[in-house]
Amino acid sequence: MLSGFTGGVHPPESKNTEDSTIEVMPVPKKVYIPFSQHTGKPATPLVKKGDDVKIGTKIGEADGFISASVHASISGKVIDIIDHAHPVIGSASCCIIEGNDSEDWVIDVNAERNTDDLTEAQLLHSIKEAGIVGLGGAAFPSHVKLSPPKDKKIDTLIINGCECEPVLTADHRLMLEHAATIIEGARVFQKILHASTLIFAVEDNKKNAIELFRDEDVRVAALKTKYPQGAEKQLIKAILKREVPRGGLPMDVGCVVHNVGTCHAALMAIKYGKPLIDRVLTVAGDGVREKKNVLVRIGTPVNSVIDFCGGYVDKPERVILGGPMMGIAQYADDVPVVKGTSGILVWPAEKAIEEGPCVRCAACVDSCPMGLMPTEICSFVKNKNFDMAKTYGLLDCIECGCCAYMCPAAIPLVHYFKYGKSEIWRRSKT
Ligand code: SF4
Ligand code: SF4
Repeated sequence: MLSGFTGGVHPPESKNTEDSTIEVMPVPKKVYIPFSQHTGKPATPLVKKGDDVKIGTKIGEADGFISASVHASISGKVIDIIDHAHPVIGSASCCIIEGNDSEDWVIDVNAERNTDDLTEAQLLHSIKEAGIVGLGGAAFPSHVKLSPPKDKKIDTLIINGCECEPVLTADHRLMLEHAATIIEGARVFQKILHASTLIFAVEDNKKNAIELFRDEDVRVAALKTKYPQGAEKQLIKAILKREVPRGGLPMDVGCVVHNVGTCHAALMAIKYGKPLIDRVLTVAGDGVREKKNVLVRIGTPVNSVIDFCGGYVDKPERVILGGPMMGIAQYADDVPVVKGTSGILVWPAEKAIEEGPCVRCAACVDSCPMGLMPTEICSFVKNKNFDMAKTYGLLDCIECGCCAYMCPAAIPLVHYFKYGKSEIWRRSKT
């Protein structure tokens, strides 16, 4: 077993839904589909109020290379295009579709294509047209990641099935229930990238998934269960012993990493022309009655998903989209599920813990997987000395939350780092 990287933490795993098979949520009556659900420019709207759409109708066109198209996830009528609450960026232009209770698709979902007959350009085109993005959380457009510059030779493709965030089990269930599709999707990615080596990376707390992949005759790297094992740079270090340079990307060391869910979604796009209109996510936490893994249409309001899971135990609650370490707390529960939503966690409201003074214990330094000095960076940000924060590696921070998790003074370090980064970005534009 590969032990991994320096730093990191091992919070209680709490993966209580790992035996919950994926349930398909009924089609929602109304969806709110943001034109921005990915890294890069928002998609350009292709529909207007009053238009009829079917499932899979392209409603937003990718605007430029680093962007992704968006599609209707239900059949019905566009009733408005307005700014609406967004789980990641606060607010964004959304297409609101009211359903007509039919399951009309814009494509023939039963028409299967032989992926062997397709050229690399056709494969990439299908992935781009379907609006496929990284489903591990970052939502980076997949066709971009699969198109490295010519001078970047890729020898290794790593398929990330670590799901190192506590609580989440959606990827684990996907691996158990759809291993063959994931492997086929991974081989398509390998063909596009001309990568000689394909490795599936799975943490050793998912032994059944590791065995399943090995039975399918693919190479599996079993990794020690440790957070953030699934972060790209840490994964590459653990498996290939290669160090992604500061400010660099995996392709700088001949490697590309894709999530298992992305492989599954891409294969469905290539084989059936199915756009990314739904995704599997974990619903968990003490504040929701039924914890489960659910296949949900993109644009479904979070409160509808919670209703499907038996509703809240009590109010008020704290709702987080994503995992407990990197997820984003929400102000309201009417935000829609977007392509990057890996989980909905509902916790009972907690007492606010007051931030105390730094006691110079260095627990944050020991836990940082990027080898940074969080306490120093935080101090520079607090003093608005952003140049020094940058010099100390603020932009290398992957916002994993290990430092804040370990901090005995309850200093919200990641909050300060996000603020510092946004200030550096804002100042670079003026
Ligand atoms: S949030 Fe940033 S500074 Fe803190 S441990 Fe993670 S990478 Fe290091
Ligand atoms: S863990 Fe918290 S208290 Fe300890 S050095 Fe880091 S910031 Fe200071």
